[in-house]
Amino acid sequence: MDRLVNREDSQTIDLYRYRLFVKGIVQGVGFRPFIYRLAHEQGIHGYVFNQLGEVIIEGEGPKNKLESFINLIQREKKGPIKVESIHKTPLEPTGEQGFFLYESKSDGQARNFAIPPDMAVCPDCLEDMENKESRYYQYPFTSCTNCGPRYTVTHNLPYDRHYTSMVDFPFCEECGKEYGDPLNRRFHAQTIACPQCGPKVSLVDETGGKVSEDWVIMVHHFLRDGKILAVKGIGGFHLVCDAGNQDAVHKLRQRKHRPRKPFALMAKGIEEIEQYFHITPRERDALTGTEAPILLIQPGESIKNRVNPETIAPGINRLGVMIPYAPLHPFLFHEDVPFLIVTSGNKSGQPIARTNEEALVDLQGIADYFLLHDREIMIRADDSVAQVVDEKLHLIRRSRGYVPEEILIPTPPVDDKETLPRVFASGGEMKNALCLTRENRAYMSHHIGEVDCVEGMGSYTQAYGHISHLLQLQPDLIAYDPHPGYYVSDFARELVSQGEIQAFPVYHHHAHMVSCMAEHHLTDPVIGCILDGTGYGRDGQLWGFEILAGDCVDFERMVQLQPLPLPGGEASIRHPWMMTAVLLYETLQEKEATLQWLDRLFPSQKDKFSLVMAQLDGTIPAVKASSGGRLFDGVSALLGICTESSYEGEAAILLGEKGAHCSGLEGVELYPVQIKEGETLIHGLVKGLLRDLENSIPLETMAWKFHMAVREMVVAGAQLAREKTGIHTVVLSGGVWNNPTLLHHTRKKLEGQGFAVYTNEKVPAGDGGIALGQAVSALWRWQKDVSIGSRTSD
Ligand SMILES: [Zn+2]
Ligand SMILES: [Zn+2]
Repeated sequence: MDRLVNREDSQTIDLYRYRLFVKGIVQGVGFRPFIYRLAHEQGIHGYVFNQLGEVIIEGEGPKNKLESFINLIQREKKGPIKVESIHKTPLEPTGEQGFFLYESKSDGQARNFAIPPDMAVCPDCLEDMENKESRYYQYPFTSCTNCGPRYTVTHNLPYDRHYTSMVDFPFCEECGKEYGDPLNRRFHAQTIACPQCGPKVSLVDETGGKVSEDWVIMVHHFLRDGKILAVKGIGGFHLVCDAGNQDAVHKLRQRKHRPRKPFALMAKGIEEIEQYFHITPRERDALTGTEAPILLIQPGESIKNRVNPETIAPGINRLGVMIPYAPLHPFLFHEDVPFLIVTSGNKSGQPIARTNEEALVDLQGIADYFLLHDREIMIRADDSVAQVVDEKLHLIRRSRGYVPEEILIPTPPVDDKETLPRVFASGGEMKNALCLTRENRAYMSHHIGEVDCVEGMGSYTQAYGHISHLLQLQPDLIAYDPHPGYYVSDFARELVSQGEIQAFPVYHHHAHMVSCMAEHHLTDPVIGCILDGTGYGRDGQLWGFEILAGDCVDFERMVQLQPLPLPGGEASIRHPWMMTAVLLYETLQEKEATLQWLDRLFPSQKDKFSLVMAQLDGTIPAVKASSGGRLFDGVSALLGICTESSYEGEAAILLGEKGAHCSGLEGVELYPVQIKEGETLIHGLVKGLLRDLENSIPLETMAWKFHMAVREMVVAGAQLAREKTGIHTVVLSGGVWNNPTLLHHTRKKLEGQGFAVYTNEKVPAGDGGIALGQAVSALWRWQKDVSIGSRTSD
């Protein structure tokens, strides 16, 4: 097929032509302009266009140039572009001259569903904003094809300015020119705008009255003065104050009724983070990536010259930090303020404010002033939260910057993936995110949060409507948590009753296990070590420290933590000292000895002892749970670290922080661990802790030894499961694995014993990830025709 073509310059060269089918994140992210520029640079002739969720390129040129063209496409990682695969077919060369960029071919079908995630402002746009000669000088909505909001401004498909909140801002002539110029960075960038035609900022007081046109100067003045500002961002409102101003931080805590829960910081830039924090190259990459998450990182001593870490994140070694990701953010900083508190703009426990009107109502009494703008946020998306453990990035909250990017999932064997049913998985009740699938692609929603209240369910219903519409996806299967009290499960069952839809209840801890399997494409049986707060188990009891064995379809429980009563049920979550009472009584098996310890440890709770004891000795019935989270709570209070929780997980998190200091402890004798008749017993651990308390062993040492005991419990459980099943693959899932000390040491030990170990990275190990597991389990059960709870029971 090679042939000689006469070119205008009369030279004869061997020409080749290929048709390239490019898959990945290649639409709405400036991929076609990139190809256009690359073709010009490389002297390639042909054209490029979008079709059916992929990009098609025809390229013609000498063999070496074509190959380097394809190589450069393959290696491209600019911004959000991710090339997954290039399929090439050879064609006859045509002698075509020039390279052309064609409009997207609209196929009129529902397959062109690429909406990219929101992207942090890029260095080029920041430079434009600082350049006095630029049209974008000091313009806080500057964006280009490599950056800017996407998901949060889009309300319809295809991804096009008409279907975003930018529709309110028709181009001026200059913007129109840049939009139409293939060699311009803003070619076909749907969100571009300039001071002439784009959104504008306004600074108002709590009555909505305009404060001043000179908003930048006033914002600096207010922040310096210790005021709290509500700032409209990309996915919702933030509350902002000077992190170095103790009074302001204190005031924000009081007004938000948030006495101790950590606040996130925004640093002026990555230079400030490098100056005041210890970060690894992996952490630097995460902080400066287009996703711009809040990253938990270790501050250096010098941070104390700037902020008081104890008021920002009491009892916690690491701080959650991000860098400016909206072009508006850099304007909040002035010379003396390298760090701001930037926390969700919501009333405690409720979704973040999205519209200007919502903010003025919801945040009244919390914010002193409101920095608004007139570009509508179509759907809310909180900041994502992540940490790096053992050089791997783990998402603790997956939201802005990541959604709605697809996650490839393992599907059951079928002849044609298009015949796979589409699944809606409704998720859990805390930290909710829902999931929709199409073929082998899963789409997790933004973080919706707590859905145990009316406001939360309102936000949930809106999110489901928004995402199912954007993806043009009506489910054939529904997966839900069989917990009898979940509103989201009612929502799922309600959908089932409306159509020809099959429903699959997926147990909470099985969903955790499958979420991790799905991420890593594991389909053979695994051992799942699932540690979390509590979830509804197959026997109707509360589970939360389970060693399971199974696959995407079904599971068996091999080992569990010995079930412990929860005095006051849910109340025990807020009062960790009650869990200490449980640990003591279960270990000492004696009322008097338990009371003596309680007297000594919690004298201020004395009036409640008799009520708690009555639930322990069975006088008053109490629910039981085998919960990892509650074990952490009880030990946290026993060691005096946290006796009352002011936010979810506080006692466990603070114990985790104390246990992080392990230098010089490797040889220390550990607390004994025993498994008997499928139950991991706690008495060896608790007796060891009591002995160390009597001997005034340092708190950090006891906390570290506790972590090692939990590690031993997990490892012993995994070994037992391996003996019974012959399985060597372990997945670690459940919110307790957000604890970096436990994760690091457990993984190391399991790997040392020949296990292949996996944990959640792309979706949270906590309840924010379970919808993925629910969805994948439903798909596999559909194929195996296992239609209810499980094969063995139900
Ligand atoms: Zn940009
Ligand atoms: Zn303009």
